[in-house]
Amino acid sequence: MKFHFMTLFPALIENVLGESIIGRAARDGYISVDTYNIRDYSLDKHRKTDDTPFGGGMGMVMTCQPIFDCFEAVKKNVKTDNRRVIYMSPKGRIFNHDVAKELAGYDELVFLCGHYEGVDQRVLDNIIDEEISIGDYVVTGGEIPACIVVDAVSRLVDGVLASSECYENESVASGILEYPQYTKPRDFRGLEVPEILLSGDHKKIDRWRLEKSVQITRERRPDLLLLHPEFEEALRPKEKKTRKRKVTETKG
Ligand code: SAM
Repeated sequence: MKFHFMTLFPALIENVLGESIIGRAARDGYISVDTYNIRDYSLDKHRKTDDTPFGGGMGMVMTCQPIFDCFEAVKKNVKTDNRRVIYMSPKGRIFNHDVAKELAGYDELVFLCGHYEGVDQRVLDNIIDEEISIGDYVVTGGEIPACIVVDAVSRLVDGVLASSECYENESVASGILEYPQYTKPRDFRGLEVPEILLSGDHKKIDRWRLEKSVQITRERRPDLLLLHPEFEEALRPKEKKTRKRKVTETKG
C-alpha cells in the first residue's frame, strides 16, 4: 500500500514513520511512504506558502498555488484509481478502527497536512475526497494526525504484522478492551503475576481473560458492551444456555 504526504515538514513524517514496525514494513516493501514538500512548488520569490485570511482574523492560511501544483506532482506518482485524497482536519470524520479498515481497502492514500489556520477552502473543494480528524482537539499541524492514520492502516496491511490475529484480538478491534498482560519475571519486587496465568490450564486462562476484558470494558467503555453483548453472554453459566436451547428445540 502506498502513502503520499503533501506537507511543509517532510522530516516530521519521515522520522515518525521511519522507525519501529512501520519503518521495517516500508523497508521490506509492504508499504511505501513518499513525502512532497509543498514549499518546493511555491512560485513566490520567497517560496511563501501562506497568506493573511480574506475578511480579516487571526493567523495565516495556506495558499492555493503551491498545493495545487504539489498535487499535480503527486498525481504523476499515483498509479491507480483506487486512491483517496484526505485532508487531516479537526472538522473531519472522526478516525477509528472501522475507518482504518475502510481506508486499508484503497491501494494508495494521499494526505494533505495543514498548518497555521488551515488551507484555502478552494483546495478542499477541488482536490480533497474527505476530511479526517483524529479527535475533538486541535493540534498544530496535520503531520502527526496523518502519521497516526497511516500507522493504524498499515497494521491492517498483509505482511506488516506477523498475522491478522495480532490486530483482531486487540482492544476495540476485537469488539471490547483487552485483558491485562504480564510477562517475566513472575515476581518483580514482591509484585506477583496472577496465579492462574501460570497454571497451564488454557481453558481457565481464556475464561479469566474474558472476565477481565468484560470488567475493564464495563468500567471504561460500556458503549462497546452494548454493541457486543456476546462477550457478557459468553460468561453466563452454561446451564442456563442449555436450558434455553432445550426450550427452543421443544418449540421447533
Ligand atoms: N483553524 C482550524 C480549525 O479551527 O478548524 C485549525 C487549524 S490547526 C491549528 C492546523 C492544522 O492541524 C489543520 O489544518 C489540520 O491539518 C491539523 N489538525 C489540527 N487538529 C487536528 C485534528 N484533530 N485532526 C486532524 N488534523 C488536525
